[in-house]
Amino acid sequence: MALEAQTKSIVAQFDYTDEDVNKGVKEFLRQMGEGLEKDGTSMSQIPTYVTAVPNGTEKGLYMAVDLGGTNFRVCSIQLNGDTTFNLTYTKVAIPKELMVAKTAQQLFAFLAKQIELFLRTHHEEHFEAHVRRRLTVSSPDGYMDENVFRLGFTFSFPVQQSGINKGTLIRWTKGFDIPDAIGKDVCALLQIEIDRLHLPVRVAALVNDTVGTLMARSYTSPGKTGAVLGAIFGTGTNGAYIEKLENLKKPLTGEYDKSTGDMVINTEWGSFDNQLNVLPNTSWDIQLDKSSVNPGIQMYEKRVSGMFLGEILRLALLDLLKDPKVSFFKDENSSSNDWKSTTNIAEDSSIYTEWGIDTAIMSVAAADNTPELSVLRQELESTLHIHSPAHDDAEAFKAIAGAVARRAARLAAVAIAAVVLQTGQLSASNDEPVDIGVDGSLVEHYPYFREMIYEALRIIDGVGEEGAKRIRIGVAKDGSGVGAALIALVAAGMEKSTTT
Ligand code: BGC
Ligand code: MG
Repeated sequence: MALEAQTKSIVAQFDYTDEDVNKGVKEFLRQMGEGLEKDGTSMSQIPTYVTAVPNGTEKGLYMAVDLGGTNFRVCSIQLNGDTTFNLTYTKVAIPKELMVAKTAQQLFAFLAKQIELFLRTHHEEHFEAHVRRRLTVSSPDGYMDENVFRLGFTFSFPVQQSGINKGTLIRWTKGFDIPDAIGKDVCALLQIEIDRLHLPVRVAALVNDTVGTLMARSYTSPGKTGAVLGAIFGTGTNGAYIEKLENLKKPLTGEYDKSTGDMVINTEWGSFDNQLNVLPNTSWDIQLDKSSVNPGIQMYEKRVSGMFLGEILRLALLDLLKDPKVSFFKDENSSSNDWKSTTNIAEDSSIYTEWGIDTAIMSVAAADNTPELSVLRQELESTLHIHSPAHDDAEAFKAIAGAVARRAARLAAVAIAAVVLQTGQLSASNDEPVDIGVDGSLVEHYPYFREMIYEALRIIDGVGEEGAKRIRIGVAKDGSGVGAALIALVAAGMEKSTTT
């Protein structure tokens, strides 16, 4: 019974009570307000210079690239103008060594190369016409060449924007660490490498993935008001929402259209409560933070997003494995006194490596409702190299993984509720849904993640049963690509009006 008792005590450490949730929302609202007033706050609340969401009638052919936490995607998007679109894309995993490259140029040269490959494969016509003339989009005649694609650059890291296609990198997140890039304009870095290859591409817009998600959601499911929040729960987490210009107190440096009275704000909520006023903090959270490339920041993200949940789980499991009083994945025949060799886990198992557990196995655990847990046990065997895992051990694994994920979902509800309350949409005297677009591996693949979010929303002051019913959380698949195209479209319009 020692295992059962120990498991219970670990699970209890991940409890995040209704009271905690409500405290979290209050603090979240306070930190949002702070970020709207001044620079240098925990949550950056970055003005994006995007002042309206689309309504589904937008048309045209655009390109978008998306540098996320794990993959680089290149796509072209045909917006059909009737809320639908066609998308062609390629995706490559970002090589690990480029995530920590010496120079920014190394990373951006790789990105430009991928754009070239994509164009050669899917848009040879544009390519040839342009390359024959050896134009660069920075030269005066190259700039207006009709073969030049307007590209929306989805760059899923915190950037201080100073215009729709200008912005300097504030810090890296999600395991990236290239100090050389900090403070540089990431659009310019990309354009330079694109020009080196003479590609017919002009970086027209810089877009955070959450902003893209918000745009895409509004394009594909336009309501009376459009979506109010775009959020990512994937490798990392973040949200962008529509704020009233009058609430934005800090000074803006760039030009923008004031007529809508709104601006999309990129919250960078991954860094909500870095000071740990209200965030839960187990010994495993502390260990994880210490071994990360960015200790002390992205503290909310480190408790919520896919890159980190597997590691929290791994650290908790290791404590159980090391405990001599507990039988957990034990090799009954071993009498060694080195804890590793008393287990029935292969020495090469990634359970022994930092960041070695992929969040995907947590989804498998949550989805396996068979009495024998046969799917999970097979997965433990094939991915973690645990020999013939026993039922009780798999059950303990499932319980702890479930607790880590449930805490994450309840924390996700804190951010969602706070943003919804901040927009005042729930107190509007109508019963229009309050629409939210989400994307990312957790919401897409973790079973019941959305259900757990709703369960928490219902107990939040100011939301409640009625409010939770009105909040409509929908997946905006491929959101960042389509969204980036939509912003490139807006930017191209602005470009025309300033050059003619
Ligand atoms: C980044 C955000 C991004 C989020 C989701 C975070 O680590 O700071 O800019 O939106 O990940 O990709
Ligand atoms: Mg992404």
